Amino acid sequence: MYKMYINGAFVDSVSKKTRNILNPATKEVIATVPEAQIEDVNSAVDAARAAFDGSAWKSKTAQDRQKILFSIAGKIRENFEDLVKLEVKNNGKPVREAEFDIDDAASCFEFYAGLTTKIHGETMNVPGNSFSYVTREAIGVCAQIIPWNFPFLMCAWKLGPAIAAGNTVVLKPSEVTPLTALFLAKLIDELDIPKGVINIVTGDGPIAGNALVSNTKIDKIAFTGGTSTGKYIGKIAAENLKKVTLELGGKNPVVIFDDCKMDLAIDWGLFAAFANSGQVCTAGSRILIQDTIYDEFVKQFVERAKNIKVGDGSNAEITMGPIVSQNHFDKVKAYIEVGKGEATLAFGGNSDDSKGFFIEPTIFTNVTPNMRIAREEIFGPVVALLKFSTEEEAIAMANDTEYGLGYGLFTQDVTRVHRVMPKIRAGIGWVNFYHPTFNEMPWGGYKHSGTGRELGLYGIENYLEVKQVNINLDTDPVGWY
Ligand code: NAD
Repeated sequence: MYKMYINGAFVDSVSKKTRNILNPATKEVIATVPEAQIEDVNSAVDAARAAFDGSAWKSKTAQDRQKILFSIAGKIRENFEDLVKLEVKNNGKPVREAEFDIDDAASCFEFYAGLTTKIHGETMNVPGNSFSYVTREAIGVCAQIIPWNFPFLMCAWKLGPAIAAGNTVVLKPSEVTPLTALFLAKLIDELDIPKGVINIVTGDGPIAGNALVSNTKIDKIAFTGGTSTGKYIGKIAAENLKKVTLELGGKNPVVIFDDCKMDLAIDWGLFAAFANSGQVCTAGSRILIQDTIYDEFVKQFVERAKNIKVGDGSNAEITMGPIVSQNHFDKVKAYIEVGKGEATLAFGGNSDDSKGFFIEPTIFTNVTPNMRIAREEIFGPVVALLKFSTEEEAIAMANDTEYGLGYGLFTQDVTRVHRVMPKIRAGIGWVNFYHPTFNEMPWGGYKHSGTGRELGLYGIENYLEVKQVNINLDTDPVGWY
């Protein structure tokens, strides 16, 4: 039985409504959490508003905020094993992937702890006799909504820069995976952070999420999730004139040229497609292979995919966990049926939801660019292998999508890398590997993959207002009138 964290207290929903949280590998109920209603969300926003407008948080220096963020990272490292276990139980991902996520989350807090004391302004040379400078200030109350695929890491991506910049927040995890966020609330509560600075509410999208983004007392929305939800949230933000950053979906191309190092391309191609059971916004779900090596690539790709062990992520031998929920299992399964109708099933395709939501790694060959499995984000362990003949064709196919998030290139030719890379309309590129994500680098998409950037120096800019100040250095009146 978990509680939400509002205004420095652990509380139930005023309505007393709750939601059961499942382990997707066993379908067992592992916890019950409050189901926030509009009034709960509003009280969390009021707490964040009061904390932002009050003096306790404002009087904290950048050095104080830095210590807070380092302490959060320290607490995460102290509770590493428990967090890993909880993430595996709630999300289903294999232990080694959860270990990576929790460690990366601590590093993200450390990165933004370091940046806290580097937020600075500039002085500008202006034509008048004015001392003119620019300062950066916190935006205010941030509404932060995150998905279920990286439940804990996404908390770090959202809270780290927001707190570094001096904002207050109301964070809503996915209704499917709220447990590690609520564990984090416990760790945060043990630190000397003024009440109301960080609030965590649990509830669904249509009620709690909608109440959060529609509340006019917030100043900014930071959303990570599906593109259709993002479009809806973008409209609300526009109506209320709130600042908004959106990190949305992708149908990401991985381009394999015939001068690649084949073993490297197979290795990272599999990881691109099947890490986190393919439930990654940058999943390399479209692999474009040069026709001269297509057959050999497919042969080796399928052969190596046989090594993937699907099962309960808490078992150390398992390398691919279940799908996160019954709803999502049904969606991915339906896409496999679509794929069987339009392409060739080269491997996998079986699923079993009798004990948990398991789907085999699934590989489709003879896929052409206009097929649904080549165009729509499946967000599961399903990969489409397509064929191209020339570099120009590869670029055109890579860009033939409404999305623009991730892309990969595999080639040994450095001039080709620099020729192709600028022509790809997407925000996150990898050459000769795929997926490694660095807190230091900007994360975000072109086109329908979103607006704004998270992480790195760019990430903190989205949590800061910019103010200009001009000081008249003339002491005499000008005598305008
Ligand atoms: P989703 O859009 O269904 O839900 C995401 C979050 O939004 C959840 O917390 C949900 O409760 C909330 N939500 C849903 N409807 C809402 C509404 N009307 N108002 C306010 N909040 C609402 O997405 P999901 O299924 O949880 O996650 C999968 C999607 O997230 C995929 O499309 C994936 O590509 C994307 N994603 C993107 C990134 C990125 O950085 N670009 C990272 C991870 C996931």
